[in-house]
Amino acid sequence: MALSTAARLKRIRFKSVVVIVLSIEHISRILVKWELEPTAQDLRDLKFFIDRGESPNAMAQLNAEPIPASALYEFVDYTANLIDLQKVYYYRVRAVEYRGETPVQTIISAATTPDGDLDFVGLYIVEEHLFAHRWVHGVPAMVFKKRRDGVYCRECWDEVLKRVTKSSCTTCYGTGREGGYYPPIEVWMSFEPDPKVEQVVDWGRRQSTQTDVQFTNYPYLTPDDIIVELKPNRVWKVSNVRGPEKNRTIMLQYLRLDAVNPSDVEQKISVPEDRRVAMVLEAEQRELEREF
Ligand SMILES: [Zn+2]
Repeated sequence: MALSTAARLKRIRFKSVVVIVLSIEHISRILVKWELEPTAQDLRDLKFFIDRGESPNAMAQLNAEPIPASALYEFVDYTANLIDLQKVYYYRVRAVEYRGETPVQTIISAATTPDGDLDFVGLYIVEEHLFAHRWVHGVPAMVFKKRRDGVYCRECWDEVLKRVTKSSCTTCYGTGREGGYYPPIEVWMSFEPDPKVEQVVDWGRRQSTQTDVQFTNYPYLTPDDIIVELKPNRVWKVSNVRGPEKNRTIMLQYLRLDAVNPSDVEQKISVPEDRRVAMVLEAEQRELEREF
């Protein structure tokens, strides 16, 4: 029997595609975020591709690896040249339904340009901090955004009580959603030891259970997201976020983090070891090169 190549998904539509310039200098970053109209269908055969072009009629695909429907609906383009201010980039998102390896249906969003006017003061502030965190005093970390929707945990979600029933569940890590957290996003951020929370006791300095972090504008963090500080391999949970905005755009994020207890299930969240080693090495090489 031949495999059917008929599309299974119906009425998949883009609700929005938003393009935001996060920074231009030192490191160029353009964020593309999208949303689908709500659907109860199983989206496991749907994958996303991001296209960019200087004209909506001439676009090329940016991501080599398709983005699965279970991922965060975000993509950061690091390859745009924004120094040339005459240049306008158009972005669009394609949702492709597959049957096995075969694409059977494609839904294309409208082409979108970056939102709003570029705010040069805001961008300057972000870029200076981004540079400082990467090259001067930040440390490498991985951000695990908490899943706030998707399938409930098959291991421990109680449909009646509407809560998790296992504190040590490694299917949802206590979040109640399958997988618990999205795949990690690599970042550089500045940990600021706060003397008020550093406890000095008779037998030496105890590890503080809270810390403050200064971070730039991507990804946006919200309480309960997980941050793994890679060099000491410490796991933190975001407790609150505040920070200056300009034209309602976040520039900097000041995070208060709580240390995750050694016995808590969040300690079992898997950090890709090859990337951890590579980023720690980058940080150590920067320390050696430092000239001041
Ligand atoms: Zn669970």
